[in-house]
Amino acid sequence: SKDTGKNKYTLFDVTMEEELNRNSLITEVLRHAIANEEVYVVYQPQYNIRKEKMTGFEALMRIRNPKLGELYPQEFIPIAEESGMITELGEWILREACLFNKKLIDSGFDSLTVSVNISSVQLSKANFIEIIQNILEETGLPAGNLELEVTESTLVSSLSNASVQLSSLQELGILISLDDFGTGYSSLNYLTNMPIDTLKMDKSFVNNICSNEKDARIASGIINLAHSMKLEVIAEGVERIEQLEVLRKNRCDIIQGYIYSKPLLPHILLETLMPDPAD
Ligand code: C2E
Ligand code: CA
Ligand code: CA
Ligand code: CA
Repeated sequence: SKDTGKNKYTLFDVTMEEELNRNSLITEVLRHAIANEEVYVVYQPQYNIRKEKMTGFEALMRIRNPKLGELYPQEFIPIAEESGMITELGEWILREACLFNKKLIDSGFDSLTVSVNISSVQLSKANFIEIIQNILEETGLPAGNLELEVTESTLVSSLSNASVQLSSLQELGILISLDDFGTGYSSLNYLTNMPIDTLKMDKSFVNNICSNEKDARIASGIINLAHSMKLEVIAEGVERIEQLEVLRKNRCDIIQGYIYSKPLLPHILLETLMPDPAD
């Protein structure tokens, strides 16, 4: 009947409205997240298979709000990008990550690389390089201990500008990593034309590396291709020992995933690195 149709429409409307409400709530949370100290960083260690040690860690953003609880980047990063708040939040995490790695260097861990995700919104700002330079100066972190992670879609949406910006950053000694490799559009084009030091193979390839012959061959092909271009390869989302073994056999350089470590709060990572004086 007509009534049922109307009810359905109303229901649909309510769902949309709820989503809009949540989005505007999150936008408000983002606006005050830094001032209210609701934003924080977790660090996920990266393990170098050949050197058999941790060689770096990725900074990942988290937000905890009294009303909304724990928020994850998959939900709030797109909203931060749309509202423009990513510029401020992105600068905040960069400074935080550089400060933390400087602290590690001062404690004797001088060869660790901290990786920070960069949004296309940040990369397309004219003063992005200046911001990075200022952060390195303020924190005292050597440029070679900082890596910026960009995705193929970042490179697409910031267009020709991106290549120039990334080249300047590389000249400063900062490392550039191509994130989520294999999920974008014209991967091979970016490999040859962009200034890149590291390639992060997306976890979708790692997922089926043991069960799907095609994925295994793609993974092995990506590793060989990257090595032929003098790039280091990080495999993302490694969860099982069998995956690690296949990656090792294929000469993957570094792994990042739950098998080695989940993302950790800074003090937990510090505790893991530092021997307990009471032991
Ligand atoms: P990403 O850059 O690909 O980061 C890796 C994601 O995989 C992280 O999710 C991490 O927690 C998760 N992960 C790590 N190991 C495993 C594993 O073994 N299995 C599985 N299933 N997942 C694993 P997270 O922290 O939720 O971040 C999601 C995405 O949000 C990131 O993907 C990145 O694109 C974005 N993001 C996070 N922090 C920032 C930030 O500060 N700025 C920007 N622009 N984006 C960020
Ligand atoms: Ca990343
Ligand atoms: Ca990734
Ligand atoms: Ca990503």
